[in-house]
Parts: sequence; C-alpha cells; structure tokens
Amino acid sequence: MCGIAGVWNVDNAYNVIHDLLLSLQHRGQQAAGVVVNGFKTVKGEGLVENVLTDERFLDGNRGIGHVRYSTYGSLDEIQPITAYTLKGRISVAHNGNIVDADEKRKFIMESGGIFSTTLDTEIIIHYFSIAPYTSAKESLQWAMSRIKAAYSLTILHDSFLAAARDQFGIRPLFYSKYENGYIVASEDSALRSIGCKDEEIHEIEPGTIVFFTDTKEPEIVRFSKRQDRFCSFEFVYFARPDSNFYGINTHEVRKLLGRKLHEENKIQADFIVPVLDSGFSGALGYSQASGIPIEYGLIRNHYIGRSFIMPKNRQEIVRRKLSPLPSVLEGKEIILIDDSIVRGTTMKIIVDMVREAGAKKVYVGIHSPAVIGPCNYGIDTSRRSELIATKNDVEKLREYVGADKLFYLSVEGYKEVFEKCGVNGICMGCFNLDYPV
Ligand code: SF4
Repeated sequence: MCGIAGVWNVDNAYNVIHDLLLSLQHRGQQAAGVVVNGFKTVKGEGLVENVLTDERFLDGNRGIGHVRYSTYGSLDEIQPITAYTLKGRISVAHNGNIVDADEKRKFIMESGGIFSTTLDTEIIIHYFSIAPYTSAKESLQWAMSRIKAAYSLTILHDSFLAAARDQFGIRPLFYSKYENGYIVASEDSALRSIGCKDEEIHEIEPGTIVFFTDTKEPEIVRFSKRQDRFCSFEFVYFARPDSNFYGINTHEVRKLLGRKLHEENKIQADFIVPVLDSGFSGALGYSQASGIPIEYGLIRNHYIGRSFIMPKNRQEIVRRKLSPLPSVLEGKEIILIDDSIVRGTTMKIIVDMVREAGAKKVYVGIHSPAVIGPCNYGIDTSRRSELIATKNDVEKLREYVGADKLFYLSVEGYKEVFEKCGVNGICMGCFNLDYPV
C-alpha cells in the first residue's frame, strides 16, 4: 500500500505535496519522497513530517510525491523514480504491483535493458522508453496499454503531469482543480483536506490517463477498456473513513458491513468494544443494528502507526498502540469488532489484553470475510503462508486468538453490501480467490 500525489501549476508545489502526503500517511509510513520542477528531489525513510521538512524546501510549481509501505524492495528504493529517456526526463510515483513484473523484467533485460532497483515501477519507465513513438504522451499511452495491473500513477515529465489508473481501477486516484492549477491524490479526503470542493473533485476512470499541460483543461485519454475491479479492502480498511470511492463513503460502507455482520450473527453481550481506529465504523453499525451500546474498552495511542503496515515488531507495537481499560472491562461480556484478521497476531494480543483487564467473556466479530488468499496488487499480504485463515478453520482460529466466540461476515453478505451500495465491480480476490488478473 502506498499513497501518491501530484501538483501542476500551483505555487509552492513542495508544500502542497507535503500536505497531500500528510493526509495519505496512513497508506505508508516507511518512506516519503517528492520530485519538483527540474526533477529536484527529496527522499528519505520515515514519516512525511520527518522527511519533507521546511529546511529541504524545493522551489517549484509542479511535482509528484509518494509515501511508501514497502511490499517489495528495500528502503533505499524510495519513490518517485526518475530517469532520462530520448523522449524527455520522467519521474514516476506508483501505487500497486505489476502482476507479471518478473516476466516483463526478463523481457526488458534480455533486450539489453538494465534496472537500478527491484521496483516494478521501473518497468513503467522502460515501457515508456521503448514505445514505438517519439511523442511522450503517445509513449505513455502505449506503455499503459501493455501493462495490465495493478497501478495508479502520478508521472512528471518535462512537458506534463499525468495521472493514470489501470483498466481495472484496482487502486484509487482522484484529481481536482486547485488555485490556478490541478492536484492529484490517492484519496479524495486528501484533496478536501487542503480546500478542494466536492464538485471539483474527479475520480479518475479506470483505463485512462489524465494529462495536465499548459492548456486550460486536463486532457483525458483512454488507453484500455474499463473493467472495474476496485479493491474492496480499500473500503474495509485501507482508506480513511472520510474518503469516498464511486461517490460512496467508506465509513458508511463499514457501518453497513457491521450491520450485516449482526444480521448474520446475533450475539448478546454487555457492550461492544471497537478495535480502534479501523474497527470503529463497523462496530457502530453492529451497535446500531443490535442496540448493544459501544464502550471505550481499548484506548488508542495515536502517536504509533497502524500495526498492519508495520513489518517488524508487530506484537510489541500492538501492545503500545492499544491499552485496555480495566474499569470498563472488569467482569463484562464484550464483543470486540474489527475490520479483518490477516495474520491473527494482532487479534490474539488484543484478546489477551482485554482478558488481563478483567473481561469475563470475549466474542470477536469481523466485518469482512476470512482472508484466504494473497494480494498481488500492492498490499502486503502476498505470502499465503502468512494468512492465518488459509491453514485454520474458524474453530481453530478462535482457539488461536483465545476468544469465546469468533464470527466473520460471510462472502455472500459482504458482496451483498457492496451491491446494495451500487458498487458492483469490486475485487474480492483475497476473500474468495476470484482475482481480476
Ligand atoms: Fe484488495 Fe484483496 Fe483484491 Fe488485493 S486481493 S486488491 S487486497 S480485494
């Protein structure tokens, strides 16, 4: 998971990208990078605030940026990636993974091409470079039409800013008018956070590139037929609750998933404890549907990042991030609600913690189905062996996490919620192994 941003024709582009990336920080906390006019670059490990400092300010009115959660590669491979080509200099920020990256790398290397990183983002630059056109715009269209998935991109060229989504629209991307120019971001909430109005925000269509140049209006070019398979996990967990996809708010979808979970599993308890922050909306839905009140049984330390996207010391991070409240939990029967169980380690620690704090019975409800397949589209669940539900049935999982009861939302129930919301073209690959590509 990564967050990307772009700015065209806006003064102090560095500061604007900084602010956009700050709003996208939840999508990646390991590294950040910015490229502005003249391909001047600032990159580094760590949070946006630590990398894109005032001291490193770069003057310019256009640029792209990236926050990174490394699914592949080491931390010295921080985006954006910049290269010289015969069609001009180009810099790319990428959210997603190219599914056939190994074959494409091999093809390029057999033709004499070289790579300086292990990032599949470089493949995009190579395809741009070898495209049988002299025009940079046509070369980009050609490259996009030959790389199937998964990508959302911001691309800075000498003569334009471009924003592109693969034909399935697996990862999100939006743009908006801003001051005298345009800005691009992975989530619309980032655009609104710096003052963009809803009516000026556009969700970039799958299979298109939006070119921002010195002409007044952006130019939208279709390079492939639209076949929507948007990542449903963006709705469930990744995106901010104030973000919208297909015009539908993620918080509202999470509440509906929580309601559906109650419809399928009518559990009685003294109260519901949301696993903050990502389990809150679903817990609210379960509470509203069941009439069981919500309590503050776990307190969240907001100065520690999201445990799912921290690759090391996950257990320790969970204990530091969440603290149980014994005065609330003592002698009570509670339903813990969370959005998902991926590796199972986080939930096991949480159940231990609430029991240590005195909870009498602990029921665990998950407002998405069991994660049974890896994601090859840019989410760090690419190793099947890490997914606890691939090796264990629900009863074994319940034993492992130490709950008195464990219940998931069914695949059918999950799908139904999205259909009711009017989102039909979703990817559910990690839940039902039906992958778009
Ligand atoms: Fe999202 Fe899962 Fe599909 Fe990956 S496999 S894109 S995480 S729904």
